[in-house]
Amino acid sequence: MAASSRIKSEERIMGSVPKGEMMLEYITGICSENNISIGRIEAIGSVTHLNIAFYDQNKREYLTNRIDKPLEIVSCIGNVSLKQGKPFVHAHISAADADGTCYGGHLGNEVPVFACEYIIHKYSGDPLIREYDDATGLTLWS
Ligand code: ZN
Repeated sequence: MAASSRIKSEERIMGSVPKGEMMLEYITGICSENNISIGRIEAIGSVTHLNIAFYDQNKREYLTNRIDKPLEIVSCIGNVSLKQGKPFVHAHISAADADGTCYGGHLGNEVPVFACEYIIHKYSGDPLIREYDDATGLTLWS
C-alpha cells in the first residue's frame, strides 16, 4: 500500500552552503539541527564535481557516476523523512556544464559546493518513515 501523510507548512529556512562543504551532508545537518522530520528541500548554485546515482531496477543496486568538472545546479529538489529515527534527505539533481549539457540523477554524497543556496520547507504531520521495500529493493516510505 502506498504511504501518505497529511502535512502542514510550518516554516521555511533559507540559507547558503559554505564553499567546500558537501552538499547533501550539509543540508542533512541543517535538517537535524532544526528537528525536521518531514519536509522538502530545493537548491540552486554550483558544485566543483558531482556524484550521482542511477538505480538499476533489474540488478537492484545503485550505479554511481562521477562527473569530474564544475557544474551549475540547474535544479535540486528532494524531501525529508525519517530513516532509522533520523532526518534523511532524498534529493535528485540536474546540473549543467559550460556547454549546457545536463547530468542528472539521485544526489550522492561527497558533492563539494562552490556556491549553493537552499530553501528547506519544514512541515508538521505524521512523519513518513523509510524502511526496506521487498518489491523494489529500495528504502521507501512504509
Ligand atoms: Zn533517488
